[in-house]
Amino acid sequence: MKAPAEPFDEVLRQRELDLLGIVDTPAEERFDRITRLAQRLFDVDIALVSLIDHDRQWWKSRQGMFDTQAPRMTSFCGHAILSSEVMEVSDALQDPRFHDNPQVTGPPHVRFYAGAPLHMLSGRRAGTLCVAHSEPRQLTEAQRADLRALADLVEEALYARDRDLLKRQAEERERLLNALFELSPIGIALIDVDTRQLLEANAALAEQQQEGMGALLKQTYEELLPVSQRGLELVRFARLATPGWHPPFESEFERRDGTTYPVQIYAAMMMARNGRRNIWMLVEDISSRREAERLKSEFLATVSHELRTPLTAIAGTLGLLRGGAVGALPVPVLPLVEAAWENSQRLQYLINDLLDLERLEAGRMHLQSSVQPLLPLLEEACRSNESYAHQLDVTLKALDLDQSPAAMALVNVDAHRLQQVLGNLLSNAAKFSPPGGEVRLWVDHSEPGWIRVSVQDQGPGITPGFRDRLFDKFTQADSSDRRRHGGTGLGLAISRQLMMLMDGYVGFESELGAGSTFWIELPLQGHQAASGE
Ligand code: ADP
Repeated sequence: MKAPAEPFDEVLRQRELDLLGIVDTPAEERFDRITRLAQRLFDVDIALVSLIDHDRQWWKSRQGMFDTQAPRMTSFCGHAILSSEVMEVSDALQDPRFHDNPQVTGPPHVRFYAGAPLHMLSGRRAGTLCVAHSEPRQLTEAQRADLRALADLVEEALYARDRDLLKRQAEERERLLNALFELSPIGIALIDVDTRQLLEANAALAEQQQEGMGALLKQTYEELLPVSQRGLELVRFARLATPGWHPPFESEFERRDGTTYPVQIYAAMMMARNGRRNIWMLVEDISSRREAERLKSEFLATVSHELRTPLTAIAGTLGLLRGGAVGALPVPVLPLVEAAWENSQRLQYLINDLLDLERLEAGRMHLQSSVQPLLPLLEEACRSNESYAHQLDVTLKALDLDQSPAAMALVNVDAHRLQQVLGNLLSNAAKFSPPGGEVRLWVDHSEPGWIRVSVQDQGPGITPGFRDRLFDKFTQADSSDRRRHGGTGLGLAISRQLMMLMDGYVGFESELGAGSTFWIELPLQGHQAASGE
């Protein structure tokens, strides 16, 4: 006996058969009708629609056969799918491939077999339509053509099944997507770009707007916006008319009764079948998030304020004691007062930082910017951080400040707040420098129209994983930083916001192990006349 060879495309063949999803499904009249016809037409014991599935043949339709499947190893059909022609075995006992086949030597005692391969959509073969009989036979040319014609009918039934399946899958997909649309807790609308008419809206949007669906779908996008903002928002809407998702943005929607609520909008433009441009908009009501943020910063502000007043008094008193204002302190008491004073200073820094940040985030920090020369500001920053650096055995070096042409620059800044930013960069640089290290400060033009102040240290540098978070609140590269170096992790977050308020930037370059260079950039407002002119 010869077991059937494996088709060259077996893996893809099997995968396509799996996708058909037909194996192990119940019998169907559309297939049975054909096998009954074949059985009668060829006057045979057996007619099958046989599918070759892994190591078995499984019969989608069977006449004259009790079993539902048989091993592929001993199957006739396993051979028949190796070619696109009808395979005919006139007398199995005379055929070296089958003479000792258990189907031949035992029931159903097959002597004659003819199988026409069944092709799937790709042309790969799923199995056969076959007929078998317990006596030898020889098909005429016309009968072979008939068998092929019946196999074609089976193939058509297979495709029809395929199409039904695809249709059902498409319907199921549509049903699921519809449910997603309807059940989404976030408002969704489909808007025509040109007319700005709402084409679709879901229940969440109707609820947010406190509007019936019918009335909502009569509205245009601008009718969802407060009148005062329509002009600006329509400019923004026009920018959404390019394909794909756009960065999310915050806005405000208005209900018919005039109440408004804050929203976060995600928008994507796509072309509709009819050639029109449509925008899908996800409209998330963010009132509760806004309220939580407001409460949080209000709480923070209150707490900080309530702490600051008594703390100022405590720090002041400790300062007086430490400075000898009430006479020399007993030797054992001195280090205690010193430690208490240092800690009260630290708490003051923290509270001031927290208050600053809260004001910045609430948009309540008002800067007093004016156009002024940069050089004196840099000199002052160096002067006021010198002693701190010195304590850490670090030298602060300003590189040829007054020689540099950039040093004649005029900038539009709040002097006090710029000192705060520079102080943060200089003290960080000193803090993270090795003892005996040098911190350098210089100015140059980063690009025309801009002035850049750089602060370079010889510290450990910034680890790549930390770079993205460096300017976030309360972040320190290493939790031991707080203990070793002090600091709140707020300095850079504040610096970034302050620089933004001064229309500038803060950034850094750093090589791990080779130090960091932090810089700020400001728009150039002109040059100071050289002295003596
Ligand atoms: P902090 O008050 O903790 O210094 P910052 O926001 O100023 O807060 O800095 C945040 C963190 O960034 C620091 O704790 C440190 O991990 C890292 N960092 C800042 N500047 C430097 C620097 N020059 N060298 C190495 N790491 C730095």
